[in-house]
Amino acid sequence: MQIFNMTYNWKGVLSKRAETKYIILHHRGGCGDALSIHADHLKRGWSGIGYHFYVRKDGSVFKGRPIGTVGAHCTNYNSLSIGICFEGNFENEVMTDVQIKSGRELVAYIRQLYPKAEVKRHRDFSATACPGKNFVFEKISKGVTQMTIEEAMEIVQAKAGLEDETIEFLLCYKYGEELFCKLAEAMR
Ligand SMILES: [Zn+2]
Repeated sequence: MQIFNMTYNWKGVLSKRAETKYIILHHRGGCGDALSIHADHLKRGWSGIGYHFYVRKDGSVFKGRPIGTVGAHCTNYNSLSIGICFEGNFENEVMTDVQIKSGRELVAYIRQLYPKAEVKRHRDFSATACPGKNFVFEKISKGVTQMTIEEAMEIVQAKAGLEDETIEFLLCYKYGEELFCKLAEAMR
C-alpha cells in the first residue's frame, strides 16, 4: 500500500490531538478525489478535509489532515480519533477487493503507530448509517495484524520452543487463530 501525500490549503490552524483512542471508519457517501472532499469540508466552514486518510475504489490511499491533528469527521470524538474515509456509498454499493486490501493495510499501519487505538465505525458513535451496511468492517478492522498464521506459528515456535505438532494442536483444536495471533504479537 502506498500513501500519497497531498498539499492542502488549510483554513486557520489545525490543532494537535492529545489522545488517540479510536480509529473511526467512514464511507464518503459518494465519489471523487481527496481535493473534492477538501473543498466540500471548506464549504461547511471547516479547516479543510476532515478525515486523516482517504481510500479510493482503486485502492489508492491519500493523506488528509496530518495524522497527529484533530480531525472533523465524528462529532464529540474528533479530539480522540483518527478518521479514515472510503470512497463510495456502501448502503447501496459494494467495496472493491483492492479497496478492502488497502483499508486493511492502512489500519494495520496506523495501529503500529497507535497500538491502543480501537477500530470503530462512525455509526458506533452517531445516529448514522455510515459507513453503510455493505462495508466490510470485520476484514478491515482485523487489519490490526498483518501477520499470517504461518508467521505467528514461527514466532511462537521460536520463542516458546514448542514442537510443530503441539502448536498445530493448540491452534486448531484448542485456542483458535485469533488468540494465537495475539500471543505471537505479544511475544515479538
Ligand atoms: Zn461517517
